[in-house]
Amino acid sequence: MRVTVIGGGIAGSSLAYFLSRAGARVTLVDAATHAASHVPAALLNPVRGQSGQVDGRALEGLATTWALLGDLSAAGFVVPHGREGILRPLPDEKTRRKFVGHLPPELPHEWRDVGEFPIAPGWHSALWLPTGGWVDGRAFCAALQRASGAEVLRGRAVQRAGEWFVQDGERLFPLTPQPSTVVLCGGSLGSTWAGERRTHRMGTMLLLDRAPTSFPLSFGAYLSPTARGGALGGTFEAPSPHWQETALPLASLNWLLGKGAALCGLSGLRVTGHWTGSRLSGLKVGRDEAGAWHLSGLGSKGFLLGPLLARELAGQLLSARE
Ligand SMILES: Cc1cc2nc3c(=O)[nH]c(=O)nc-3n(C[C@H](O)[C@H](O)[C@H](O)COP(=O)(O)OP(=O)(O)OC[C@H]3O[C@@H](n4cnc5c(N)ncnc54)[C@H](O)[C@@H]3O)c2cc1C
Repeated sequence: MRVTVIGGGIAGSSLAYFLSRAGARVTLVDAATHAASHVPAALLNPVRGQSGQVDGRALEGLATTWALLGDLSAAGFVVPHGREGILRPLPDEKTRRKFVGHLPPELPHEWRDVGEFPIAPGWHSALWLPTGGWVDGRAFCAALQRASGAEVLRGRAVQRAGEWFVQDGERLFPLTPQPSTVVLCGGSLGSTWAGERRTHRMGTMLLLDRAPTSFPLSFGAYLSPTARGGALGGTFEAPSPHWQETALPLASLNWLLGKGAALCGLSGLRVTGHWTGSRLSGLKVGRDEAGAWHLSGLGSKGFLLGPLLARELAGQLLSARE
């Protein structure tokens, strides 16, 4: 079976990997621009946001992503990541109760004393998630693409009069042979290029000269180790119906620094750069009424659920063909 995957973020790269391993011949077309998946530190955090919601598939997703990283490491691919756990400092008893209400018993977690951690004063409680961690998104996608053995074409996939082409700068060349099965994994930018109106949210990571702690901490924004130091960030801009050219408004910078200082004080840390990306919400997975296949709209859980959903979609694609 031949499959053309459009988009080489965590969705498309995982899908290419699982399809190839199941014996499909995969062509991956990736414009390789503005991928949310190139986030310098993506958290593998099963307990979400400021209410502590746990996605029904979080545990399976976490296990799938860690297993995939293990397989890539065993095959010799270097993907910077950390599996030391994640700390969720919580501001008050009300928030703690919300988190307690959402935590499934099978999710490993420990309520610890805030004083055990090098965090800023004023936090009420500390939820330690020993199975969480972080991963370098760009390195993860690159390793998946290489490990898949897929044919990778750089450029934007465009459809004209029912035919697929790849646009690389001024050049437009047809995909040969023309694909019969195409999966759209274009993320925020791809959805906007396709003319859709969906929910896009921009966020920024400030790159730091070192990691303030050896594990990520997250409430409001997050601090994490990265391959080269640390990062402070999150997705916090107002939602928009389209992808927007990336920007870091000064007010956002101010907000982010405030959140970072509340987490760990930030003293002695230096900003070495920044990265801005846009994520797309509203999960689309499988075949739509028009017959088009999708894996997009992973929201803030791209690395938690993306590989799991890609593995399942690969199975569906292969059985739809049988
Ligand atoms: C600041 C920030 C922090 C985040 N933190 C986390 C986190 O801690 N944990 C977590 O799990 N998730 C996090 N996310 C969300 C996560 O990054 C996304 O859910 C995920 O990366 C989306 O992956 P994707 O493959 O769907 O899309 P993308 O990564 O956006 O990839 C889409 C790719 O397709 C290409 N493309 C689009 N259209 C076409 C076309 N027509 N032809 C060819 N190529 C095309 C694009 O150029 C791009 O390379 C964060 C996002 C941001 C912005």
